Amino acid sequence: MKVIFLDIDGVLNPAYHMHALHFHQKYGGVAEDAYGYLFCPHTLEHLAYIVEHTHAKLVISSTWRKKGLTFMQDLWHHRGLPGEVVDITPVIDNIRGEEIAAWLQPNEVENFIIIDDENYLLPNQVPYLVQTDMNYGLKLSDAQQCIALLNQS
Ligand SMILES: [Mg+2]
Repeated sequence: MKVIFLDIDGVLNPAYHMHALHFHQKYGGVAEDAYGYLFCPHTLEHLAYIVEHTHAKLVISSTWRKKGLTFMQDLWHHRGLPGEVVDITPVIDNIRGEEIAAWLQPNEVENFIIIDDENYLLPNQVPYLVQTDMNYGLKLSDAQQCIALLNQS
């Protein structure tokens, strides 16, 4: 199994998108559903592109996962988001690199990548990080980098 450790804020919820949602909401538009703020459609296209070309599964590493695996899976199904959420990383005092290491330890994976706008990783995880710009989120060039990393032998 190929695995994507997925952050959400700054990846699927970039700053420009959040500004637009708040503006939209101010004038009566819909910015949220029962699960929270709606994600940026452009970044979702790029996530779909990665999944289509790698068949990787999603493990949520974002703080959004603190609502639980079932919540995240329901959110994914309800919104029809790309990819399958198979798990969440354990919560260990917010040290994301250690949380990812703790998940990887008992799980056998073919390849993995970490998509995050921040780098709170262990040094040996940095080569697997595709770091997004929190202003723009997951861009096409990021997605291409993800595909190259996940498909390398
Ligand atoms: Mg983030």
